[in-house]
Amino acid sequence: MSNKSALITGITGQDGAYLSKLLLSKGYDVYGVLARRSTDTLWRLREVGVQDDVRLIDGDLTDLSSLIRAMETSKAGEVYNLGAQSFVGTSWQQPLLTAQVDGVGALNVLEAVRIVNKQARFYQASTSEMFGLIQAEMQDETTPFYPRSPYGVAKLMAHWATVNYRESFGMHASSGILFNHESPLRGIEFVTRKVTDAVARIKLGRQKELRLGNIDSKRDWGFAGDYVEAMWLMTQQPAGDDYVVATGLTTTVRDMCEIAFGHVGLKADEHLVIDPAFFRPAEVDVLLGNPAKAMAKLGWKPKTSLEQLITMMVDADMRRLSA
Ligand code: NDP
Repeated sequence: MSNKSALITGITGQDGAYLSKLLLSKGYDVYGVLARRSTDTLWRLREVGVQDDVRLIDGDLTDLSSLIRAMETSKAGEVYNLGAQSFVGTSWQQPLLTAQVDGVGALNVLEAVRIVNKQARFYQASTSEMFGLIQAEMQDETTPFYPRSPYGVAKLMAHWATVNYRESFGMHASSGILFNHESPLRGIEFVTRKVTDAVARIKLGRQKELRLGNIDSKRDWGFAGDYVEAMWLMTQQPAGDDYVVATGLTTTVRDMCEIAFGHVGLKADEHLVIDPAFFRPAEVDVLLGNPAKAMAKLGWKPKTSLEQLITMMVDADMRRLSA
């Protein structure tokens, strides 16, 4: 059995905030690795109301010594590696940083766990972007990988490092291959949040148009609050394993926009502008996950529909902009 202390890298991110809240509600002592920034990064922890309940330890994924210290200080029985340069678009501009943080960084966390407490259970935040080029109608744990961005390539290294530490050292290490998951805490650069923020601004008369790239690409979008439950369920299993976490439904960016505009009584086609500047050097056309294994073995299922998710995000952006 794991003890009730957990360490989260990426605690200030979207998933870090929801996972902190979940683990605190289950009675864990929650520690987080806090990267040094010149600006305030605690707004998400404040929004979910846990900023005073988590313990933050200065550190960085690229600095093994800080991760060893974080393992020693937290005495964590569960370690969730959520920290990453997580935006696909940026990974073409900063491929080396993305490789250092998302690839080597994960290896640093695995090493810190192995050196300090090999019995601790490890979760790696893997991604559907590792599938990339379509090779199956629905992607599951048996679908071959073919990443299409420096982000996907770096994450694939981290995924295989997780599998390798499980097999080499007998560690309880799991890789959650999560499809896109969103929430009002999503970063503004991601397409769902870019859309819901723009819809709120257009509705409030502060913006006229919304510029997007390929609106025909299809994504399998779920709610981050539902997906962090799958992370926790993975670390509760008798052994580590790999799981696809998805809704099993795919929607075009265009249809997602229509839900968002429709929610405030606007029409998407009156405000959408296609801008080639937002096209990616290599595109992933369709992502559609098959969560059958997670449903059967973890007893997990998504609870929030895309409609509920997008309307929740639009409402949150309307509230923020009107405050
Ligand atoms: P976010 O971008 O919201 O959060 C990323 C976190 O990583 C932030 O806390 C950030 O800190 C931290 N971080 C970045 N660089 C470093 C570093 N060098 N050292 C330590 N911490 C660092 O991501 P999400 O919460 O959305 O995603 C969580 C994880 O899941 C990520 O690894 C992401 O790649 C992966 N993932 C996400 C999916 C999604 O749809 N959301 C889908 C599949 C996988 P700071 O706030 O200081 O920048």
